[in-house]
Amino acid sequence: MKHGAVKQVAILGATGSIGSSALDVIARHPGRFRASVLAAHRSVDELAALCIRFRPELAIIADPAHEAALAARLLTAGLPTRAASGAVALREAASGGLCDTVIAAIVGAAGLDSTLAAARAGKRLLLANKEAVVMAGPLLLDALSAGGGTIIPLDSEHNAIFQCLPDGRPNAGSGDVRRILLTASGGPFRGRQRDELRAITPDQACAHPNWRMGRKISVDSATLMNKGLEVIEARWLFNARADQIEVVVHPQSIVHSLVEYTDGSVLAQLGNPDMRTALAHALAWPDRIDAGVAPLDLFKLATLNFEVPDRATFRCLDLAYAALATGGTAPATLNAANEVAVAAFLDGALPFLAIAEVIEAALAAVPAEPLTTLEALIYADLTARRETQRIMQRAFC
Ligand code: NAD
Ligand code: MG
Repeated sequence: MKHGAVKQVAILGATGSIGSSALDVIARHPGRFRASVLAAHRSVDELAALCIRFRPELAIIADPAHEAALAARLLTAGLPTRAASGAVALREAASGGLCDTVIAAIVGAAGLDSTLAAARAGKRLLLANKEAVVMAGPLLLDALSAGGGTIIPLDSEHNAIFQCLPDGRPNAGSGDVRRILLTASGGPFRGRQRDELRAITPDQACAHPNWRMGRKISVDSATLMNKGLEVIEARWLFNARADQIEVVVHPQSIVHSLVEYTDGSVLAQLGNPDMRTALAHALAWPDRIDAGVAPLDLFKLATLNFEVPDRATFRCLDLAYAALATGGTAPATLNAANEVAVAAFLDGALPFLAIAEVIEAALAAVPAEPLTTLEALIYADLTARRETQRIMQRAFC
């Protein structure tokens, strides 16, 4: 084997869709990787089952109310794994000595603190938690340069772009790159008109044609907010200007994104829609390892299609570009309003089409402030959440 010591990997969000794909790749390479820390929100049963299988040093349940139950389960199973809980434990695990690699796979703003901690501590940061970059792009870049670590995107599009840019130079602002072409599946409602989307249920919105994902990102894919968040993510991860990032609808989800250079060359990364490819790439980079993913069969696919996004029906994409143009805390407001509106939609308390309306109203109601400190960001996030609740109560309850 050409590598050295076994990499110690902390998986924050271990019980989720990304977490289980990560553990699948890790299990294929016991000589290279060890899951040393596993963290989840509230699901003690699922976390304990993962501990029995992977025997980490530390298991963290974010909700402190469940720590005693987790500790009891670990003890009964005779495991050496310690139990911990709460935000401080997550932050310490992301930055402490139990891991050299952190997979940031918590969903939403809840992942911000541990993602920043891993960056500040100079870890290899494998980033799925796009909401953290959307909220805190410049603060995350500062933390990374202070810590001296590496960030490798796991979002399939950004992982593709990373692979299409020169090694170790994730910089689209260098003058060589003309455009980043960010592909989007179009979600389950591609081709539908607004009128056809009025009565959409949470289960319909979560039935993505190509990917099996958590419910929040599945709704984001259905509204195209996922692509909006990814535009902002690309702006920070690749030092790209907003006008360099173009969204291309590609229903097959085979071309994961493309980079166009000034000489006319366009480089793309292709593969089956399976997050284990991005995870294996990011875990082993710059090596290549088996991901357990089926080979791409181009003859079976035969055709790849590309379309212009329908911005009139799926308004969240333009709302994200607008927040990026405003700058400062506006993307954090966009993200917070989206999280609150999507949670209400998933609870059956908000119509599908109202998600965009609520976010637009929140962006208008909350003034953008300069993004200078983490405190300013947290204040903006809380203000936006409060304001979004108020908007929803006025208009829809
Ligand atoms: P998921 O809902 O399947 O899993 C979320 C994980 O986060 C779970 O382990 C859960 O226990 C944990 N979690 C939730 N709230 C938490 C809290 N308050 N504190 C601590 N842990 C908490 O979601 P997912 O689909 O795996 O997505 C995770 C992240 O990865 C999201 O930011 C998403 O946008 C991003 N992402 C996912 C995919 C995908 O294919 N699933 C692709 C690209 C990016
Ligand atoms: Mg993506």
